[in-house]
This record gives sequence, structure tokens and C-alpha cells, in this order.
Amino acid sequence: MAAKQKLVYDFTEGNKDLKDLLGGKGANLAEMTNLGLPVPPGFTITTEACKTYLEKGDEPASLRDEVSAHLDALEQKMGKKLGQADDPLLVSVRSGAKFSMPGMMDTVLNIGLSDASVGGLAAQAGNERFAWDSYRRLIQMFGKTVMGVDGDRFEEALEAAKQGKGTSNDLELDAGDLKVLVKAFKGIVREDTGRDFPQDPREQMDLAIRAVFDSWNGDRARLYRRQERIPNDLGTAVNVCSMVFGNLGPDSGTGVAFTRDPSTGHQGVYGDYLQHAQGEDVVAGIRNTVPLADLEKLDKKSYDELMAIMATLENHYRDLCDIEFTIERGKLWMLQTRVGKRTAAAAFRIAVQLVDQGLIDLDEALTRVNGQQLAQLMFPRFDENTKAEYVAWGIAASPGAAVGKAVFDSYTAVKWSRSGEKVILVRRETNPDDLDGMIAAQGILTSRGGKTSHAAVVARGMGKTCVCGAEELEVDTKKRRFTTPDGRVVEEGDLISIDGSTGKVYVGEVPVVPSPVVEYFEGTLHAGADEQGGLVKAVHRIMAHADERRILRVRANADNGEDANRARRYGAQGIGLCRTEHMFLGEERRKEVEHLILADNDKDRETALKTLLPLQKGDFVELFQAMDGLPVTVRLLDPPLHEFLPDITELSVRVALAEARKDPNENDLRLLQAVHRLHEQNPMLGLRGVRLGLAIPGLFSMQVRAIAEAAAERKLAGGDPRAEIMIPLVGTVQELEIVRDDAETVLADVERTHNVELDIKLGTMIELPRAAVTAGQIAEAAEFFSFGTNDLTQTVWGFSRDDVEASFFTAYLEKGIFGVSPFETIDRDGVGALVKQAVEAGRATRPDLKLGVCGEHGGDPDSVHFFHEVGLDYVSCSPFRIPVARLEAGRAAVQTAGSDSR
Ligand code: ADP
Ligand code: MG
Ligand code: MG
Repeated sequence: MAAKQKLVYDFTEGNKDLKDLLGGKGANLAEMTNLGLPVPPGFTITTEACKTYLEKGDEPASLRDEVSAHLDALEQKMGKKLGQADDPLLVSVRSGAKFSMPGMMDTVLNIGLSDASVGGLAAQAGNERFAWDSYRRLIQMFGKTVMGVDGDRFEEALEAAKQGKGTSNDLELDAGDLKVLVKAFKGIVREDTGRDFPQDPREQMDLAIRAVFDSWNGDRARLYRRQERIPNDLGTAVNVCSMVFGNLGPDSGTGVAFTRDPSTGHQGVYGDYLQHAQGEDVVAGIRNTVPLADLEKLDKKSYDELMAIMATLENHYRDLCDIEFTIERGKLWMLQTRVGKRTAAAAFRIAVQLVDQGLIDLDEALTRVNGQQLAQLMFPRFDENTKAEYVAWGIAASPGAAVGKAVFDSYTAVKWSRSGEKVILVRRETNPDDLDGMIAAQGILTSRGGKTSHAAVVARGMGKTCVCGAEELEVDTKKRRFTTPDGRVVEEGDLISIDGSTGKVYVGEVPVVPSPVVEYFEGTLHAGADEQGGLVKAVHRIMAHADERRILRVRANADNGEDANRARRYGAQGIGLCRTEHMFLGEERRKEVEHLILADNDKDRETALKTLLPLQKGDFVELFQAMDGLPVTVRLLDPPLHEFLPDITELSVRVALAEARKDPNENDLRLLQAVHRLHEQNPMLGLRGVRLGLAIPGLFSMQVRAIAEAAAERKLAGGDPRAEIMIPLVGTVQELEIVRDDAETVLADVERTHNVELDIKLGTMIELPRAAVTAGQIAEAAEFFSFGTNDLTQTVWGFSRDDVEASFFTAYLEKGIFGVSPFETIDRDGVGALVKQAVEAGRATRPDLKLGVCGEHGGDPDSVHFFHEVGLDYVSCSPFRIPVARLEAGRAAVQTAGSDSR
């Protein structure tokens, strides 16, 4: 027979590593007990007991006996019995899951008090008021949390009692008042539940324990777990802890403290203390607390002991801790500790401080911060001391602070920003036509759409501030103005400010402070600068260590010299994705693309291609120069051609008007025909990617030639260009082979003409399920793979991103179908599994196959860990995400070091 499972642990039996079994609170109470700190004795009922209770609907058979045995031991230690009439032992019953969770049952203090023992407590303490205060608190907490009485009823009765005394201070209620209040509270319990407040101490305890178990499945707790992705089957532990009393008089009290400032990370004395009070009083705001430093004057002995204990805890946990304590008649008791939450800036500062103190090494410091915190530090912010008042509150879609003149269309945004104005693009909602305007603007404000709307998604991708769905604003793009709820009208050109971290919209200019961390990455702030209390130094040290440790290389998605230069400053080790379609935009080029599309014979087509060639080449020269010595992956044209043609409605109107004027425009007519011809039901799955290269003779060859000639030019100028040509949307090796043959011919031709050796690699994107599944074959014709996880996610899920994000993703997220959009964090089980399979098959065919990813996932913390685990060579992401990817790649390397998962 298997040994019976132990369901109850004395505080002396546990330790901090038993959080799964004892919950966070229980594990840390045990740890403190074993450190010899003054913790009131007690025991913890395990999460296993809770799980059995929840499964079977009843406590495990052995639980009652085990609790009895531990209670006996506790009673012996304390020299009194639970609820003993002349000298009662009292306990608190406290919930405590592995993760601290709102929605779990509130703690019940003073369990064991009854009509029979309240007098004994008074006599023992020599303080009648204290005993009755404790009793009324018990009935109030027990009534509310265990018996389900509406807590307001107790509060109202308490309020009435205070009013009757003409005071607002609970301390002015005397023993007599509290006796009356206890009677009233008991009446409320009976009235509300039809039952009496239980007088049997053990029954009180057992009911409270059961209520803690039940609270695991309360609505609020379930909702919280779903949002935070906490598994439902962890269960909660229950802590039974002998009481210590902060409400015994002015020489007693209760407090909370941090071992250092959780908002800045600086060392010092941080906390609050409340004299003559119990438990939560200190945070409930019933009376004014004093800063912890004042405790030194009130009770120097306890203060000194507390400071020593805080130092012990920091050294022991090797991290910032927060604590709860109580002082009972000059004696200090520790009631809780845990590694405390902190702001992003504090996280970086604390991590390196602990390194300097010799408490942790740099590897560990790296695990103490994360990419999300770094990203937060990279956004500019509004000055915290601003007095400005916001006029509307939308959705905080993409963080940062932006100030500029309101403009209401993309064209104006581009025009004004070219002449040096800062603008904010205000739209009801955005669509792909607004892209240029979004790029030109400081920030984007929309009155419609949620966190997954076009504006939000694109802005996040660009690292641009965005507030969306500010529904209180009436946006009139025709009249070029919006109206605020209080009736103010903001016209085009008026200054506005938007805060993408809070969603607030301001009229006028709110002062912005730039992020010193960005200034550091940009190189305008020295790494040794003593900026922001050592923040920059801390970031620098941790980044340097991440770079040293990481195995993944980090490249940038960049299409022009400017982005490439920034990427390099931010630490990019090459370009993983250069989208050539941006090189087809702009007045002059668009004309040539139109000619190319309209060409109905080889000659016209060739002429158009010949005109485009030098333009493209110029772009590549710039790019290769910026990334000299580093790889640059250029993707051949990917999007459907109609994206380069005028809008169908606009064009139709133009043609119709011209016809009405009897002045038809030949070119417009042909364009309209082409637009109709190229119109697709589902362009995402239509004529695009490699299919374009195969359908339009000469197109890919022209691009390959432009790349090769640019490389040749750089080489002849003494540079070190490292071009890689990437074919998008390949589904089968045959497609790749044909394009590859053509490309090789062109490359050989350029090499011969210029008499240089170019060594340009040819590879493909893996972004269709079929490509992933046949990766072994595809690798025969590809020297590298780059996983296009955006399209791969679309095609694996059958999601058209623009459609689904706007229509039903919110519902999916709310229902918990996924915790985070698969477009933000890679779906490991589906898309990720295909990536893994393709990596293995590809490497089996070609062991030196280079592997990277260029979807947006390349800059997403969780996804970076996945790409590290499956053994990619690099991730590629937008320039602003590069530091985040570097950091997370370092963290992934440290976290998997020693384990065999890679
Ligand atoms: P939470 O999880 O909400 O912090 P706790 O179980 O820590 O709940 O308890 C709530 C309050 O009661 C805290 O201020 C805590 O310090 C206090 N408290 C809990 N147990 C005891 C006890 N045995 N003696 C005195 N105060 C206690
Ligand atoms: Mg607590
Ligand atoms: Mg793609």
C-alpha cells in the first residue's frame, strides 16, 4: 500500500521551495520560521487536500485527524487550548495559493473567540476593550467571508455606533460600545443567514478552512486565473496561524514594508505603520498611518529588530521582499513575506544592485528582468508632474507619449511632416491606405476599434504611440475636426497629446520626457551616464551580458538605409527581411509599376523593368552600405499587384466623369480594366509571392539583377556586401527551382560583366503549411529558410488577420480560447510544431542550412524563447524591438543552459 499522503505541515516542516504544496504564503511562513525569525506558530493544510476536496466534494478522510494532531501540538506549544474559556488560544485562517490571487477568500482573524471565551481573553490581557474589539472583528470577518453576509451591513452598524458616539475614530468606541456592537453583529448574522454565529471554536475553524477551499472556485478567482493563464487545478493551501495582537494598545500595531523602494529600486526604509490596529487596518485607510521610519521613535527596539530582519530576508531571498508584521506590546512578529512586485525601472536597478552586493551573478540578474519591462522603459512618457486634464479616455493600444498637430488624413500627415511639423493622425479607424500617414505621424488616435484594430496592430508593429477606440470623440474627417465630450472642437492644426500607455487624450501640448534608455541605444547617451538613478548603467550591464550569453543572433526588418542604420545602432547583426514592395511606391515608381502591369507585349514590359532597375539598385546600395559586413536578406516582390494600382472606386468615378464630359482618358480606361482583371476574391491567397515571379516574365530577374549590381558596385568600392535573396510564399520545391535557375543565370551574368565574385545566397520563406511539411525537399534548392510566421499563422489557422482581429478576436480572447493572439505570441502547439518539423527536415537535407524567422514574432519575448529552443540561428524584428529580442535571447540561453531542451 502506498504511504498515506501527508496533508498538514507544521510551519517548522516546510520551506520556500514547497510553493506548489504549501502555497506562497505557507512556504514563506515556514521559511521564516526555519530562519529563526519570530513567526507565530501554526500549520499549513496542503493544496493536495484542497484538490481532493474539490474533486470529491468532501475533505479527504484523514484530514480531520491530521488537523487535530497539529492543533494539539500547537495548543501544547502555546500552553492553551483553542477557544479555552479562561485563556483562549486564537488563530487566523488564511488562504494562500501558489500565486497570489485576488478573489480568494479573505483571512479570518481571531478564530476561537466566543461568548464563553471573550471574558477570559479580557482577563488575560487585562483589557476588556481589546477582547470585545477582537470579538466584533471575528463576527464581522467570519460573517462576511465564511457565512456570506453582505459586508456593508456590518460596516453600517459600525458606522452607526461611531456616529452615536459622535466620533469617526474606531478607537473611541469603548468596551461597552463594542459589547453592544457584538450583539448587533450577531443579530445581522442570524437575520441574514437564518443561523447563529457558531460558538464552537473548532467548528469555526473547520468552516473557515472549508470556505477557503471553496473560494478557489469562486467567480472572481476563476476569471483571474483565466486572464493570467494560471492552471485551474493547482488548488489553494490554508494556513492556520496563532494570533498576535496589534490592537492591544498604543504599544501595539500593524505594518507593511518593502526591503527597498518597489518603484525606484533604491535602498531605504519603505513602509507604513499603524498603531493600535489589527491586520488589514494598515492598508484599509481607517486611520492615518505613519511612515515606517517613524517607528524608530515609537518603538526603537522593534524597529531595529525589523531592520535586521529585513536585511536577513533580502540576503536570504536575494531579492526585494515585501513583508507584513505586527507588534504586540513591544514584541515584533512576522506574518508574511514574499519576493515583491516592482516597476520596470526598479527591476533593472535592483538586479544590478544585487550583483554588486554579491548576492546574485549576472546570469541570474538576466532572469530577473524581461523584455516587456525593457520595452516599457523605451517609450517616451509625459512628464509625471503635468497638470493637464484629459478630454477623452480611449484604449491604450500602443504605449508611448505623442504630441502633435491634429491631421485627419494620411496625405496631410505626410505633407506636414515633410515640412517639419509634428502631427498626430486622427481617424475614425485606419486602413492600409493610411500607412504612409501613420509612418509620418508621431502618434495615431482613432475613435473606433479595439486593441486588435488595424490602427492598434500596425502601430504596435511600428512602435508608434496609439490610442484607439476613443468613442467619446466625434471625429469628422470631412470637416477635419473632432469634438470632445465637453463640446470643445479641435480643428486641423490644433495641438493635441495622446498617451498610449494610459489611453488618455489631451487638448494642447503636454510636456514629454524622452526615454533615457532609447537615448542610450541611439548612442546619444553614454552607457556610463549616471542617468535616472543608474537606470542606463543597469540596462547597459544587463544588455551586455545578454549579448554575451545568447546563441540566437538578432537581425532587423528594415527596408531603407535609415532603418538599417538605426537597427545597427540598436545592435542588429544584419537584416533578416527587406521588403522590396516599399521600393515600388512613390509617384515616379508607381507610374512604372503601372506600365509594367499594363504592358501587353515584351517590349513595353522590358522598358518598364529597365526604368525600375536603377531605382531599385540605388535602394540596395544604400542598404548594403548601412549593413556593410553583415547579411542582408532581400525578399523579392510579395504583395498582389493591384496594391500598386489606384483604388477601384476612385478610378471608376474618374472614368465615369471623363466619359460624361466626353473626354475619356485612354490610360485610365486601361488601368480600370487592369484593376478589374487583377481583382481577387482573396488576395492573400492569390497572385502574390513566388507566383508573381512565375507569372510576370522578367520581374524577379530584374530584382535579382538590381541586387547583384548593387552588391557588385559596393564590392568594387571596397565594401563588403552580404546579400541573400529570399523567395516568398513558396509551396513546393519546383517553384523555387525555376526561380532559382533564372536567378543563378542573372547572378553569373553580373559577376562576369563586372568581374567580381558575389557569393549571394538564395533561399526561401517557409510560410505555407505545405512548405513546412515538405521542408526536406525544399531545402534541396534553398540555402536558407526564413520562417514567415505571420503568413504561416494565417494559413495554419485559416485566419485572415485583418478580418479576424477586427471582428471576433476580442470574443476569442474573452472566452479564453487563447490567452494571447497567435499573431502576437507564436502558437507553439500548432504553428510552432510545424516550424520545429521544418527545422528538423531542412537540416536533415542540408546540415548547414541557415534558419531564421522574420515574422513579428521575432520580437516577441515568449516567441524568442521558442525560437531559441527549436534551434534557429537568428530572429529578425523591427528595429525598435531589437533590444527586446537581444535581452530575451540572452535570457532564453541562460534559462535553458544545463537542461537538454535545446
Ligand atoms: P492577504 O493574503 O490578504 O495578505 P493575510 O492572510 O496575510 O491576507 O492576512 C490579512 C491580514 O491579517 C494581514 O495584515 C496579516 O498580517 C494579518 N494576520 C494574518 N494572520 C495573523 C495572525 N495570526 N495574527 C495577527 N495578524 C494576522
Ligand atoms: Mg498578507
Ligand atoms: Mg508573408
